[in-house]
Order: sequence, then C-alpha cells, then structure tokens
Amino acid sequence: MSEPLLRVSQLVKNFPVKGGVLRRTVDEVHAVDHISFEIGAGETLGLVGESGCGKSTTGRCILRLIEPTAGEIWFEGRNVVEFDHGELSALRRDMQIIFQDPYASLNPRMTVGAIIGEALTIHGLAKDRHGYEARVVELLETVGLNADHMRRYPHEFSGGQRQRIGIARALAVSPKLIVCDEPVSALDVSIQAQVINLLEDLQEQLSLTYLFIAHDLSVVEHISTRVAVMYLGRIVELAPARALYDAPLHPYTEALLSAVPIPDPTIKRLRIRLEGDVPNPIHPPTGCHFHTRCPIRELPLCSAQRPELREVRPRHWVACHLRS
Ligand code: SF4
Repeated sequence: MSEPLLRVSQLVKNFPVKGGVLRRTVDEVHAVDHISFEIGAGETLGLVGESGCGKSTTGRCILRLIEPTAGEIWFEGRNVVEFDHGELSALRRDMQIIFQDPYASLNPRMTVGAIIGEALTIHGLAKDRHGYEARVVELLETVGLNADHMRRYPHEFSGGQRQRIGIARALAVSPKLIVCDEPVSALDVSIQAQVINLLEDLQEQLSLTYLFIAHDLSVVEHISTRVAVMYLGRIVELAPARALYDAPLHPYTEALLSAVPIPDPTIKRLRIRLEGDVPNPIHPPTGCHFHTRCPIRELPLCSAQRPELREVRPRHWVACHLRS
C-alpha cells in the first residue's frame, strides 16, 4: 500500500468515572487501548465488535468529535491530534461521519434541504442561492432522492430514506474519508442491502475512503477491503476481508463468524458459544482481555501477558499467544 490516507497509532481513549458527593474522578473506562491501523485511499476498513468494544469511540476520536487520551492520528501526513480550532474546521471538509440512528441524527425542525445545505453555508461552498439549491438537488439525486424532497421534513421519510439524507449531508463538503458508524444497524435487513449498495456505488464514483463500523461481521463482509476485529478496546485481528472470513485466526473472530448465518442450508457450521458476558471495561481482565471467555486459553500465560498484534501471514495480523 502506498502512503495511507489515515494512520492511527497507539490510540488511547479513557473516560473518567465520577463518584462521591464531590463528583471526583474515581476510576476510568478504558474504551480504546493502544490501537493502531491504517486505511489506504479508496479502501474500506470494516471495524467490528460487540457493543462497548470501543469501535464508535475510535471513529469519533479520528474526527476529533471526542478528544483522544493519547496516540496519534495522521491524515494525509498531518497529525490531527495537534490541530487547532481553525485546522479542525478545515478537517471537517475532508472527514465526515454517517451516524447509526437516522431518526435521531436529523434535526426534526429543519427541512431536508436545510439539513443537507447547512455545511455548504458553514464552509462557504455555494456562491449564491441558485448555486446552493442546485448543489442540494444534485446531492439528493446522488443518493437516490429527488428535488421535491428538499422542502419536506425528516419525519416524512422512511428509515432508509433518512439514512440517504444523512449520506447526502456527509457528501455535501466532498469529503475524502467517511466514518460510517453502524449506518445500517437501525434499518430493516432488506433496506440494509440497498444502503450498503449505495455506499459502494458512491465510493466508486467519488473515490471515497470508508471506515465502516458494525457489530456484525456479515454486514461488512462485502463492502470491506480489510476487516479489523475489536474486543474490549483492542484490535485482536486485522486482515484482508477474504482471508479473515475464510481462515480466521483469533478465537474471538471464530466465535463471531460462527454466529453469521450461511444462506446455503446444506452447509452446517458449528456454533461457538462464548462463556459469560463482555467484562467490565473499567477493570478489564489482565493479560489477554479475552482470556476469561476464550475456549482455548492457556493459563497462566494468557492471563499474565498481553498478546501483541503480530503479522503472522502477509497482511494478516492477530493478537493471540497460541496462533501463528
Ligand atoms: Fe485465547 Fe490466550 Fe489467544 Fe487470548 S492469547 S485469544 S486467551 S489463546
């Protein structure tokens, strides 16, 4: 891969836990724990894991919607963690986000035209009223809506249409990178495929790069160039999509994949059921965070030593003491 568009290095995000009468910080949630990855221009990196594993926090840190605790985020060769207010405003043109909930993410008091056009005004991207309206119509048509929709309000649209409005809003500033934060998990399965197909078409037409966040490996299978699997704030496996689906190496990825339905009923896959729930991220397990649920753990090794993410096959990285 040539110089990546985005390079995340040793990213950490801890959230304070407040307690007592004085609301002092008494503990910390370790949401993102020293993760590193790259995304090349035009690539889609799928970022997958259960709720609370830190994937959405990672996406928000990249956009500086929340401040990282430590680490570096290099975008086109510049560390955005060091950006001041003015540089961040410019960055918003290059990086956008599509949110999970198309119902909550659109202001119900604004028309669809105003929602999509807001960024054009903020960034001074329309010369006059005519240019503004022409661009809003162009964006609506790009996502499969039409000019008539401009003067309507979000509540008049279905979930899938609202997500299209969210996508049009993200495209308004012609971004290079879009963080898609579970963009289809609130939609019916039949609508999910339409939105994913739209995102794929847009990627090709507009040379977009995606960080595609999902809690389900089946959602990202077709859209991802590579997939990273997260567990309790850490990346446990990172590989080209085909390699990860055909031959997963980490026991957690194996368990996630075993839960993905196979369309062909003649093929049976053994379901791997993990013991217990995801541990509390305030006090994650020592060593390998997964050792309390891992079906192949070896103690005391797995509870004593953190497994580093190692490249065990070309471009296939895994964090497990026992897999090579
Ligand atoms: Fe399981 Fe140990 Fe590998 Fe962690 S390091 S995934 S506990 S075998």
